[in-house]
Amino acid sequence: MSSPKTNGMPPVKQRQGVRFQNWAKTHSCRPALFFEPDTEAQVIVKQARAQGKTCRAIGAGHSPSDLACTNDYMIGTDRLDRVISGGMRLHDLHEYLAQHQLALSNLGSISDQSVTELTLVLADGAVVTCSAEEQPRLFRAAQCSLGCLGIIVRVTLQCEPAFLLRATEELWSMADLLGRWSDTVHSAEHVRFWWFPHTDNVVVWRANRTTEHAVGRTPALSWLRDRLFGYHMYELGLYLARFMPRLLTASIERWKVAWLHQDPIVTVGPSHDVFNFDCLFSQRVNEWAVPADRAPEAIRQLRQIIAQGSFPVHFPIEIRFTAKDDIWLSPAQGHDVCYIGIIMYRWVMEAMSRSCFAG
Ligand SMILES: Cc1cc2nc3c(=O)[nH]c(=O)nc-3n(C[C@H](O)[C@H](O)[C@H](O)COP(=O)(O)OP(=O)(O)OC[C@H]3O[C@@H](n4cnc5c(N)ncnc54)[C@H](O)[C@@H]3O)c2cc1C
Repeated sequence: MSSPKTNGMPPVKQRQGVRFQNWAKTHSCRPALFFEPDTEAQVIVKQARAQGKTCRAIGAGHSPSDLACTNDYMIGTDRLDRVISGGMRLHDLHEYLAQHQLALSNLGSISDQSVTELTLVLADGAVVTCSAEEQPRLFRAAQCSLGCLGIIVRVTLQCEPAFLLRATEELWSMADLLGRWSDTVHSAEHVRFWWFPHTDNVVVWRANRTTEHAVGRTPALSWLRDRLFGYHMYELGLYLARFMPRLLTASIERWKVAWLHQDPIVTVGPSHDVFNFDCLFSQRVNEWAVPADRAPEAIRQLRQIIAQGSFPVHFPIEIRFTAKDDIWLSPAQGHDVCYIGIIMYRWVMEAMSRSCFAG
């Protein structure tokens, strides 16, 4: 197999026998060829088209699905990492922005951002730039295109001057939260909830911009609470729970809330540190977008399903909000949305699936 012609540029790096695996280690594939272009993604797309091959781009592999998998051509975007190409990782971007006293205005647990312009290599190899002003229909389609519309090789993001956030985490009862739902959802610039399933407890996380000095937890305490107990002991508990998931998962959740989440926590720090949090171990994810005004009803019903005992999900059931947008495939197209994300430790999920389908 010859390297794609690159009009006098150095040949595109390509490898055979690469095994791709996503972050959660729940999906993998072996593409026939794995390319790592640093500029000329269009020559690979043209070669794939001429040979009737599918081309899939891959970023950090964080998608919990097998969306990026292919047996044909996979295009790694790690080398498209100049400020700001389509393959740049957000943690590198945060560092770069911090050096220039800038920040993104909002982030998910691991990231969400305001895209203002995209450059794509389309399936015929054409290179097209789109934004709200230039090719607006393509822009609205491409912002959420799951890799199906072309390879994004350049992204322009809206930034703002760097800022600090002050975040508080408080343990509430779910009954209290549902009783004061609307006020609480609008009580800070950024709000999210982490619900402990099998209990009536929920962590209410709220953050506002601040000019206070950074405050973190002491490293030793933080290691004990977040790493030793909050991660390793918790994972060990869930690992053992796979043998009796229905019985043990609820007890482990009650232990976690009683030991680790009783005291309120205050953190002040650079926005990207405060927005992001450690999503712990390999897990299966099931996230639903419901109309924001119907979220309490959805939570009540989910509570009933979990209470029936056949659904050993664990902390956190993450409840978050996004404002409406006009992106074609976005779940928030035309209406405000509440995302309810349910996770299950990978090994518990696999044990459950086996027992469901056995006999
Ligand atoms: C622990 C964890 C926490 C998460 N938390 C959040 C969160 O809080 N908020 C949120 O919104 N999401 C969250 N996600 C989901 C994650 O942000 C998305 O799955 C996102 O797509 C991951 O980006 P990636 O670069 O790893 O994409 P990949 O998994 O590499 O690819 C996903 C899709 O994007 C396509 N793609 C990748 N790069 C390109 C490119 N350059 N051009 C065209 N298509 C491309 C791929 O073909 C594939 O279809 C989380 C995921 C994990 C594992």
